Amino acid sequence: MTPPAKPAESDTAMIVVMKGTATARETGAVLQSIEGLGFRPHISSGEERTVIGIIGSERKVDPSAFEGLAGVERVIPILKPYKLASREFKQEDTVVEVRGRRIGGRSIVVMAGPCAVESREQVQETAKRVRAAGATVLRGGAYKPRTSPYAFQGMGRPGLEILREAADANDLAVVTEIISVQDIPAMVEFADILQIGARNMQNFNLLEEVGRAGKPVLLKRGMMSTLEELLLSAEYILSTGNYNVILCERGIRTFEKFTRNTYDVSAVPVLKKLSHLPVICDPSHAAGDRDLVPALARAGVAAGADGLIIEVHPNPAVAKCDGAQSLTPDQFDALMKEVGAIARCIGRSV
Ligand code: PEP
Ligand code: MN
Repeated sequence: MTPPAKPAESDTAMIVVMKGTATARETGAVLQSIEGLGFRPHISSGEERTVIGIIGSERKVDPSAFEGLAGVERVIPILKPYKLASREFKQEDTVVEVRGRRIGGRSIVVMAGPCAVESREQVQETAKRVRAAGATVLRGGAYKPRTSPYAFQGMGRPGLEILREAADANDLAVVTEIISVQDIPAMVEFADILQIGARNMQNFNLLEEVGRAGKPVLLKRGMMSTLEELLLSAEYILSTGNYNVILCERGIRTFEKFTRNTYDVSAVPVLKKLSHLPVICDPSHAAGDRDLVPALARAGVAAGADGLIIEVHPNPAVAKCDGAQSLTPDQFDALMKEVGAIARCIGRSV
């Protein structure tokens, strides 16, 4: 794996903090001077003030170029290797809005559904049940990244149509995995959140193209990735100007064999400390076993996750993918009640 990234000597990474009293004209002049130097400004408008990120690897720019401009309070370098993802760039939590749902706010967002879309009936039934239990986003893979080339690879575009139809009928948003840039047009047409799976976390070209597609992105942690690598992958998306990124802890590979992956619950407070981006947990892919999913889901929420993504199948015994870790709708129902109770304990809701 790549060693922790150090910013190159020639990197420029700083934020221009505008005064609370800065006028739109003054901010406009700062943006113009940044663009004049060949940089793309990244704007974050907080409640009190606007900050503008200047990030590039081509050449170094002297902060004094901006310090003297009207309306500028100060210029601060961003020292972390991930820039736009860092709390240095943006102090307040990012809230990703998807069809009226707010991911990263006080309320915990639950995404649920089958690992893979298998049939219209399967998805309709699941959507109805998870909605009734309190989920607000429907998950399901139409394109599956499978370890074996002989395993079920997903239904493709018809799977996306099935997801959209079931989501619309039940007032749900759709999150689904994208594995290839060639599927972007279909994804943009049918999905609300594009999921980048663990296996593609460092597929940098896919990250950039998905970033440019402009839809919110759910970025899963690679199974052998550090949190810094996860944040640098998020940076690829953010640097395209797409700021709607949700991070997801889904377990990492260790020597332990009783679980499919080792759930790194500490990833949640660490990511929340380092970054302003929302963080959700996937207890299903961490556990690999439905009996363990409720405990891991509760732990994630208790640790401060902004949401959960959970596999649910109407009949896990016949699932084409990940049946062993899929909850039945009744089990999901029970879990949602527990998650609601934990959320209330920490001043949140579901
Ligand atoms: C999935 O969500 O079904 C999936 C393949 O997850 P991951 O990328 O975390 O393995
Ligand atoms: Mn799965």
